[in-house]
Amino acid sequence: MSIDTVFDRILRKELPSEIVFESDHVLAFKDLNPQAPVHVLVIPKKKISSFNVISDLSAREIGLFFQGVSLVAQKLGLAESGYRIVLNCGRHGQQTVDYLHAHILAGRQMTWPPG
Ligand code: 5GP
Repeated sequence: MSIDTVFDRILRKELPSEIVFESDHVLAFKDLNPQAPVHVLVIPKKKISSFNVISDLSAREIGLFFQGVSLVAQKLGLAESGYRIVLNCGRHGQQTVDYLHAHILAGRQMTWPPG
């Protein structure tokens, strides 16, 4: 059984969040502790804990998740200037919430390598 996370509670609307996009398949909301002028998190409505277990989703569900991320970036007007998508995974990846989520970071020049 998976543990209940803050993102489960945000999805159930038990916790307030600034939702920027919602579809049948994904929910996108502003990060509480933004690391860029635009910092949005996108979660699939069908929960998995991390990228490690992405194969628990069907190819269609995975596709719908990434289509959702792309759609959110477009709806936020980021397509031309660009953005970074981050999927933190596990301890070394510094994943802190055990619910698969993509960070969309934008609104400033990103640097490489990431910290
Ligand atoms: P991770 O480190 O797991 O990749 O990212 C988790 C993200 O969730 C962090 O950037 C953190 O700021 C954000 N976060 C944690 N708790 C909340 C919350 O209650 N609401 C929102 N909107 N973001 C949160």
